[in-house]
Amino acid sequence: MITVEEAANIVLENVRTLPTKEMDIGDALGFCLAQDVRSDLDMPPFDKSAMDGYAVIAEDTAGAPVKLEVVENIAAGYMPTKRLKKGQASKIMTGAALPEGADAVVKVEETHTSEDGKRVLVHKRIEKGKNVSRRGEDIKAGQVALAKGTELRPQEIGILAAIGQRVVLVFSAPRIGIISTGSELVKVTSKPMAGQIRDSNSYSIVAQAKQLHTEVEFLGMVPDDKMDITNIIKRGLNKDVLILSGGVSMGEYDLVGDALIELGVEIYFKKVALRPGKPTVFGKKGNTIIFALPGNPVATLVTFILFVGPAIRKMMGFANPINRPIKATIETELIKKKKRREYLPAQLRQNVGNWLVSPVEWHGSGDLFSTTKANCLLIVPETVDRFDAGQLVDVLLFNSLGIGHGCKG
Ligand code: AMP
Ligand code: MG
Repeated sequence: MITVEEAANIVLENVRTLPTKEMDIGDALGFCLAQDVRSDLDMPPFDKSAMDGYAVIAEDTAGAPVKLEVVENIAAGYMPTKRLKKGQASKIMTGAALPEGADAVVKVEETHTSEDGKRVLVHKRIEKGKNVSRRGEDIKAGQVALAKGTELRPQEIGILAAIGQRVVLVFSAPRIGIISTGSELVKVTSKPMAGQIRDSNSYSIVAQAKQLHTEVEFLGMVPDDKMDITNIIKRGLNKDVLILSGGVSMGEYDLVGDALIELGVEIYFKKVALRPGKPTVFGKKGNTIIFALPGNPVATLVTFILFVGPAIRKMMGFANPINRPIKATIETELIKKKKRREYLPAQLRQNVGNWLVSPVEWHGSGDLFSTTKANCLLIVPETVDRFDAGQLVDVLLFNSLGIGHGCKG
């Protein structure tokens, strides 16, 4: 059996980044830039005040407290008209342009204004440059503000707006088809009869795919019948990614693998050394990549995170498509059950100066409910058969917190 890393590498080797397209920045959250974007202006565009207060000549405050003559009142959006001379100050609002001659801003809290507003008492000496944002100190005109491959988070979307880029080139998101297999499955709106369960995987997989900003279509639910399975897979082969759940174990009614092979899908792996999620199938036909995930809901969730998510991110142009684990201290002793690597639902919490992690109570790969009490997966490597409390372990966050996927290196 291949390892998780080997499997993930096989997936990434067989996945191509999708073509680029132009997109309004209002729709581009979660996409990756396919172009370098240069700024059309300096940011800030002029020397400006970072505070409400008084623009002054710093030297004038050397002998503070000092009284200065107020020559102007400058609001944001208006240009100053008076150059400061020795002994003068201008009242200034946050974001307003600094008048010529001024080289610092005294906060309003550190001043006292005369009743007629014509004089200001500055209590303390101020350094040159204080409370002033210099023209171009953030970005210079013509400079690459955001490089190709950058993930567009809210702050990048904001910067694109600030530098006048209404439309940008991004890598496309894959079109994804989802299929649930299993004769025991009934729709969410039905009350399961004896031996039946509700199809929850289609919903959780659609949700995972939506988190990655892809175009998802649920193609339907089919019983363990070769013809039905084959027909529905055929409908999914025009997608970029086809994801099935169920029907890939060793049972008599696990027919998905056979159906894929008969349809000419090239299978790259059928099993991965992990728990939960061993019977994970990955294949490709034409431009469609196909994942047949084990039906147990936690296995489905975990194998999506480990294999499907990275494939989607690579298609979308992310420089780092694979989730990186973080280190945490395990709070309790843990005995491992199998030789395979395990991904256990766990709760990560912050303690003074470090992260602590504990597995949540879990009844195996069918127990999706336990994962609702978890915020991460605790990784138990194949080489380890127990952890003592206090050991450092690897943890994979359910929510990547936006860390890392778009960063190079
Ligand atoms: P399978 O991979 O088909 O052997 O299914 C393994 C387990 O997962 C069985 O207990 C199934 O009932 C369950 N299961 C399969 N598909 C789904 C689904 N779509 N939603 C919820 N549970 C499922
Ligand atoms: Mg089944």
